[in-house]
Amino acid sequence: MSTQTRLHVAKFGGTSLADHAAMQRCANVVLNDSSIKVVVVSASSGVTNYLVQLANRQTETLEQADIIESIKAVQLEIINKLNDPSKVLKTVLAILDNLQHAVTELNNLYSNKAVDEILSFGEQMSSVIFSQVLNESAALRGLSQGYARAFDVRAVMRTDSNFGHAQPQIDEIAQLSNELLAPLLSTQVIVAQGFIGSDKFGNTTTLGRGGSDYSAALLSEALGANEVQIWTDVPGIYTTDPRITGHAKPMLELSFNEAAELATFGAKVLHPATILPAARANIDVFVGSSVNPELGGTWIKKQPSAPGIRAIALRENQTLLTVSSPAMLHASGFLARVFAILAKHDLSVDLITTSEISVALTIDKAPNEHVAVISEECLAELSDFCSVKVETDLALVAAIGNHSITETGNDSARKLFQSLSSHPLRMICHGASIHNICFLVHQRNAKSVVQSIHDDVFSL
Ligand code: ADP
Ligand code: ASP
Ligand code: MG
Repeated sequence: MSTQTRLHVAKFGGTSLADHAAMQRCANVVLNDSSIKVVVVSASSGVTNYLVQLANRQTETLEQADIIESIKAVQLEIINKLNDPSKVLKTVLAILDNLQHAVTELNNLYSNKAVDEILSFGEQMSSVIFSQVLNESAALRGLSQGYARAFDVRAVMRTDSNFGHAQPQIDEIAQLSNELLAPLLSTQVIVAQGFIGSDKFGNTTTLGRGGSDYSAALLSEALGANEVQIWTDVPGIYTTDPRITGHAKPMLELSFNEAAELATFGAKVLHPATILPAARANIDVFVGSSVNPELGGTWIKKQPSAPGIRAIALRENQTLLTVSSPAMLHASGFLARVFAILAKHDLSVDLITTSEISVALTIDKAPNEHVAVISEECLAELSDFCSVKVETDLALVAAIGNHSITETGNDSARKLFQSLSSHPLRMICHGASIHNICFLVHQRNAKSVVQSIHDDVFSL
């Protein structure tokens, strides 16, 4: 395929769009690759956190006014550095007005629908501002006026109505994207919002925190793109979060399986669902730094997975639920009953171990929550037929790769278990997949456990 007919989708995260200089670096990334026809943007760094605070029931009206001012300050700081601020100022002020109205509505009647509406404003503003930065950078290179334009992704990103973690409707997204988005790509670069979508009633929805990566992959799948580029603040995917240890090393290549597991088990660099559309449509994914694009990054492709442990992931603030009942001994249907109750309360289970009369399972935090919230109602329903224990302050550490502890001669698994023998563990899980071995540790030890097993497994 010639370069001309290739289609690349580039996504820029919050820190990449934090200020005017950062946005200019992203504009150069786009201008340096003429195959990038769709850009997906996050909100500028910090803005979604402000919006989450705004939508919090506990936030007082006076505090809300301060928060809106802080959001405005972040955006105006960027707008004031544009060559022609007037091109976007009116639009952004109108979006801030809409935000104020949405907050008033939420104060009158709290609903998850109203929360999602509020969370959508960061991406709405950054798409308008970044289009202008892109146009101004394009003009400097002698490219046409109107090189880029913002596009309301809600016209094509159809989801269900599960506010807070809406599920994309793949077929409809493909159909709408081909109808409304594809025809625009021959003339302009389209700047679409990540993270947000719309249900069939026209309500704004969100895909969960960090969801812009997923949006980029979904649009790539819908449009039949050749490549999706995730531009962030690190030059690729590392052997563990580089913020946890300076010994972490970037990886040149990963398979879809490895990357998907890593994202699922907490590597924040990719939203957990990002790899699903890419793997379905066999689209190569690149992860690199918008600060230093020349450093290269990680390519995630359909390829055989390399043997051994590739990386260590950490997911903090997990909750462990242990349910026990003597009636479970030799009885059938106990697990089904427990899971039916958890499903009813929309709790997602990750790790699970069982003994004769107990089941221990970890529950992840809900979107926009710091810890899992297991309602009194759910606990009461479980307590009807078993005893229930809830433990918090735990963290999930996952060794990701292609390994089986049942295979003899697996060197990295041997090193892992040797290393683990010096740490107190609350739970161990392995067996359902050869791609991960997971451990539950105390939150306070989590980072030191990751540092120590990372260094031992990778022999540093
Ligand atoms: P963005 O705003 O661009 O979406 P995120 O903050 O969501 O960026 O993701 C990038 C961050 O992910 C990095 O700064 C890094 O701290 C974290 N991270 C966690 N695990 C990894 C990993 N294995 N490799 C690289 N980064 C990781
Ligand atoms: N702005 C959203 C968030 O902060 C989505 C994203 O950045 O991917 O969660
Ligand atoms: Mg992110």
